[in-house]
Amino acid sequence: MGSQPEDKAVFDTESGKEMVKELRASFVAGKTKSYEWKVSQLKAMLKMMEENEAQIIFALRDDLSKPELESSIYEIGMLKNSCRLALKEMKHWMKPEKAKTSLTTFPSTAEIVSEPLGVVLVISAWNYPFLLSLDPVVGAIAAGNAIVLKPSELAPATSSLLAKLIADYLDGSCIKVVEGAVPETTALLEQKWDKIFYTGNGRVARIVMAAAAKHLTPVVLELGGKSPVIVDSDIDLKVATRRIIAGKWGCNNGQACISPDYIITTKDYAVKLVDSFKCELEKFYGKNPLESKDLSRIVNSNHFDRLLKLLDEDKISSKIVHGGERDETNLKIAPTILLDVPKNSLIMKEEIFGPLLPIIMVDKLEGSFDVIKSLGGKPLAAYLFTNKTKLKAKFVAEVSAGGLVVNDTTVHLAEHNLPFGGVGDSGMGSYHGKFSFDAFSHKKAVLYRSFGGDSSLRYPPYTRGKLRLLQALLSGSVLRIIRALLGC
Ligand code: NAD
Repeated sequence: MGSQPEDKAVFDTESGKEMVKELRASFVAGKTKSYEWKVSQLKAMLKMMEENEAQIIFALRDDLSKPELESSIYEIGMLKNSCRLALKEMKHWMKPEKAKTSLTTFPSTAEIVSEPLGVVLVISAWNYPFLLSLDPVVGAIAAGNAIVLKPSELAPATSSLLAKLIADYLDGSCIKVVEGAVPETTALLEQKWDKIFYTGNGRVARIVMAAAAKHLTPVVLELGGKSPVIVDSDIDLKVATRRIIAGKWGCNNGQACISPDYIITTKDYAVKLVDSFKCELEKFYGKNPLESKDLSRIVNSNHFDRLLKLLDEDKISSKIVHGGERDETNLKIAPTILLDVPKNSLIMKEEIFGPLLPIIMVDKLEGSFDVIKSLGGKPLAAYLFTNKTKLKAKFVAEVSAGGLVVNDTTVHLAEHNLPFGGVGDSGMGSYHGKFSFDAFSHKKAVLYRSFGGDSSLRYPPYTRGKLRLLQALLSGSVLRIIRALLGC
């Protein structure tokens, strides 16, 4: 018999307490606040990726059969960009921001100073286990915090690689990784944090928020939802189809938070759209997509069974117009399209998070907005393909979602000048680019006054005249101020 792996020490509440104590000491000592420290950590993270790219790709293949291109571009490449952007812009982000002052505090000057929050916890999900773990960490470092990262146990190879690489490359007195599942996360959640940044599903988000409430800890919740795609008929069908495929199956085989969840199109156009999908899908993934190396597998058998339950529901099985093949041994499901799916089916009731794409048909495309509203909740993303200016305006005005894209899918994620985050059921708070720095900073209001211009107005004894002048000053009306000064 081979030797048993050495038992890892149990991470419990006491370990969590000790860890936070050590990190708080580093934070209070001011270690994480200096620009030099932040630069050193971000550069170390870049070096870590340069020197270990093959290992990271290997771990992602182990956890998800993630194709090399997707790992290299959407996980490693995107994180490198975040590091480079922070290195380039951080000095500017850290600068106090001048604020205007009003007559009320005249004479004065003001600024908004960004200060780090303290010791923060990042809890990450399994679907983009490398990027989603470290992208928030980049923001937390740039803002000057000490950090604990808890990667997802459902991507174990990436989780253990992260623990090793972070210990090897980053400053262990300020940045730590705790691996584990519910017991370890629970032990972490019992501690007092200065911010918790959670990526994952809404059920656990409620547990996280309840734990945070005990300590009045603010949270960022990066969740998911049913992200719709509305498809008009006046479009470049081939380009639209390819862009939907790239956002759905080309993003971890649909296991991405902003993947298209379902399509809404008109009855007249649906068949044309399905034909286009069939044609492009075959070009991308061949006649037998289960054998394609360009599609991730389903993360584990629980999620595989969950997806089959959606697919094999009685009222749904007859709606499959493309795909439906599955390979239980290798946890693969082919790109699958379902046409005319009833709104009360399981597949329309929860986030799909996999390679199934239902199409809902409406008489007129304007009816799409009511479909989205009727499904309840606000999705993380919503997409529209059209050339009609009025429809675009209606879409932007009426659809509430974390982010919207017109004539493409998922690409808003790569635009660091846009905040990335949800609203309502899809989450709260946002990050990416400077928004990541802001997510981990407190915006401290600072007002400077001198000893000059000291008016007796606010001091007792209070008089009618003082009251009138103060009211006039607060109103900001020059006319009222003159009248109060003249006593008329
Ligand atoms: P998951 O199972 O990896 O869970 C996320 C984290 O929660 C893990 O670190 C896990 O250890 C922890 N956790 C699980 N149960 C817990 C409990 N009882 N108490 C405390 N912690 C617990 O990931 P998931 O939730 O399956 O992720 C998929 C969901 O995440 C989807 O809804 C998806 O849309 C969403 N998501 C959102 C984003 C985003 O950026 N908005 C990104 C990726 C995924």
